[in-house]
Amino acid sequence: MYQYSRAIYLETRDFISAPSPDQQLQAQRRVLNACERLVGRLAEDPQYVADPARSLFTEIRSYFSINDQARIYAIIQRYVAAAARLLEEEAQRKASEESARCQAQTRKGTPCRRKPLPGRTLCPSHEHLASIVAV
Ligand SMILES: [Zn+2]
Repeated sequence: MYQYSRAIYLETRDFISAPSPDQQLQAQRRVLNACERLVGRLAEDPQYVADPARSLFTEIRSYFSINDQARIYAIIQRYVAAAARLLEEEAQRKASEESARCQAQTRKGTPCRRKPLPGRTLCPSHEHLASIVAV
């Protein structure tokens, strides 16, 4: 996930405006930290941050000149959206893995409720039916 905070930082750091080189360095560090904190929070719980792009922008906007702020916000939005998409895809993949059920029926004729083996459609108890089902 931290490729996203890095990317935001790398694209925005040249726009950071501070009165002295020392302050410039400090501002860069703060921007990087803010980016990493946000991405960390997103990865932990995507629902936790209501508007992650705006939240990060609000936190770091003071390090940029007024003229660059629209550009900075656009960069943040782009990468935060990409990070959110990745998290959403991961969540969906996990959910579909968890909801997968064995395709066989029990002796009573009800659907088997056990989990299939990874990459299979049958659970360990019904795995022996795979050759029959495949025919
Ligand atoms: Zn089964």
